[in-house]
Amino acid sequence: MAILTILEFPDPRLRTIAKPIETVDDGIRRLIDDMFETMYAAPGIGLAATQVNVHKRLVVMDLSEDKNEPRVFINPEFEALTEELEPYQEGCLSVPGFYENVDRPQKVRIRALDRDGQPFELVAEGLLAVCIQHECDHLNGKLFVDYLSTLKRDRIRKKLEKQHRQHG
Ligand SMILES: [Zn+2]
Repeated sequence: MAILTILEFPDPRLRTIAKPIETVDDGIRRLIDDMFETMYAAPGIGLAATQVNVHKRLVVMDLSEDKNEPRVFINPEFEALTEELEPYQEGCLSVPGFYENVDRPQKVRIRALDRDGQPFELVAEGLLAVCIQHECDHLNGKLFVDYLSTLKRDRIRKKLEKQHRQHG
């Protein structure tokens, strides 16, 4: 397994729209394993392939306290099951150190393929619902900072650009 480099905002590659995965083969499963290793090492609770500069529709996640409940979503899609939006504080491995409230539906139905390419469906609430929407955004080239005011987003961008200059 290998730890992959995570792209950070405002890297333009994070704006790439990922392509659907046609066949879930050993290459994809290797990528899944590398993404889990990268996510656990960061540490984080979710990672989209876009964030490691692989533009395929693949998300890994582990919301458990003991980091022993890995979840894989290939070609994930969701539909909102509530009309009202609620705020939830979000962070992102591609926007390190910043946490802001984002309004989203707190209940969604998720459809995806698992690591064997088998379709599954589940209804998610709370953190899982928020997380899958955040990760699906990545696959569409979108970041949680896009939901913030221009002023806030520019402030975050400037701070991260400064850090990138200092640390190369
Ligand atoms: Zn993220």
